[in-house]
Amino acid sequence: MTTKQSIYGLPLESLRQLLIEQGCSKFSGDQVYNWIYKCGVFDPLLWSNVSKKAKQYLLDNFNLELPVITWQARSTDGTRKFLVGFEDKQTVETVAIPAKDRLTLCISSQVGCAIGCTFCHTGTMGLKRHLQAGEIVGQYLAVQKWLKEKSDSDKRISNIVYMGQGEPLHNYEPVKAATQVFLEAKGLGIGQRKITLSTSGLVPQIEKLWDFPPVNIAISLHAAHNDIRTELMPINKVYDLERLFEAIAKVPLKAHRRITYEYLLIANINDGERDLQGLYKLLDREHSKVNLIPFNEYPDSEFKQPSQQKVQWFQDQLIANGYVCTTRTSRGDDILAACGQLKSEMDKENLWD
Ligand code: SF4
Repeated sequence: MTTKQSIYGLPLESLRQLLIEQGCSKFSGDQVYNWIYKCGVFDPLLWSNVSKKAKQYLLDNFNLELPVITWQARSTDGTRKFLVGFEDKQTVETVAIPAKDRLTLCISSQVGCAIGCTFCHTGTMGLKRHLQAGEIVGQYLAVQKWLKEKSDSDKRISNIVYMGQGEPLHNYEPVKAATQVFLEAKGLGIGQRKITLSTSGLVPQIEKLWDFPPVNIAISLHAAHNDIRTELMPINKVYDLERLFEAIAKVPLKAHRRITYEYLLIANINDGERDLQGLYKLLDREHSKVNLIPFNEYPDSEFKQPSQQKVQWFQDQLIANGYVCTTRTSRGDDILAACGQLKSEMDKENLWD
């Protein structure tokens, strides 16, 4: 097994510098980027305008293999869940969610997750390891290639949400490097407003966000009172709501515009009047957007989804009180691809070969 770093996590400027240091032309990095990200050609032998020297250096020093799609399933609503495998045979789930005007990829940042939210299927796995930047970008490239070759749609993935397995800010530097690769205009060129970084509330890393590319920020809030939030998200014992909102106040909003607050609505846990009153106190109307997510039940989950009427009532109250509030339609729940349901299941048919 090679231990070389994957080439796919390298921001353009780093690749340029490396190749210039090897005595290659100053255009070499841009040419390689163009082949990989614009043309989707991953075999260096086919990079006709790249010098032999540059290709040999990259082959000797980097891993150019894409991650492998080891399994996939399609939901009746068109959502596709992929099991993406890496060199050490660890796998993560990546979900492609089509809509009329876009194709969103829900990407994983870790194998498993250390945060242990009690409502989350992934949280039951614990953290196995962080993903490298190249493994994060590799999910995009492998899924895009699979869709092009094996599905009837040639739609390009247009949006990225870091809402798959893992807490992205717990793997800060690789997620930052991967985001730089996604944003690079000479490569994939995905717009800042089409990428969403979601966090459970890691305060020290939220305080560092001035240093992160200015993409959309989503905070998994899920409760407006410390007692309930601690029950749902053990991280609240370390960084409670007061500390979380002190950190959020420091996020440079000019760049990050409105912050989205993800709020998982769970029957009889956080869907009542007291919860609404708490939200009114916590959230500033001008810079907040609330995204309600009715809880997706999974096998053995202890929580229940509220009725549709209850969800509608909760949303109506927030809107009546001056908030921008949407309810996320659940996608792919028949294949356990919906939010909080992701978990690498090892008993799936193994397609490694
Ligand atoms: S909800 Fe997110 S942060 Fe919480 S355990 Fe699941 S993957 Fe980790």
